[in-house]
Amino acid sequence: MAKYRCPSCGKGMTSTRIVSVPVRLKRGKKITVPDVAVDECDRCGDRIFDAVALRKIEDYQQCTGRLLLRLEPTMHAQLLRHSQRAHRSLNQQIVHYIAQGLKKGA
Ligand SMILES: [Zn+2]
Repeated sequence: MAKYRCPSCGKGMTSTRIVSVPVRLKRGKKITVPDVAVDECDRCGDRIFDAVALRKIEDYQQCTGRLLLRLEPTMHAQLLRHSQRAHRSLNQQIVHYIAQGLKKGA
């Protein structure tokens, strides 16, 4: 995105910044959307979101954090053994593995 005159105040110039955007989910829970590219005014601080940024925020808003999983029974049994060995609940173990996988994929 290029620099341009701020459409809100008409005085400042915008520049692209990477910011975290706080959003509220439907049930009132607050989350933060990381690494959103916005054009921010150097005078009034107004932020302009493009279609990509809005799409990213919408994607996060649809994620409540609740997920129903269907696993192969053998995988379920393996996961249970892993969680018992690590002294984690099944849910904690799944979150642990997903976090590891997401880090690698980033
Ligand atoms: Zn402005």
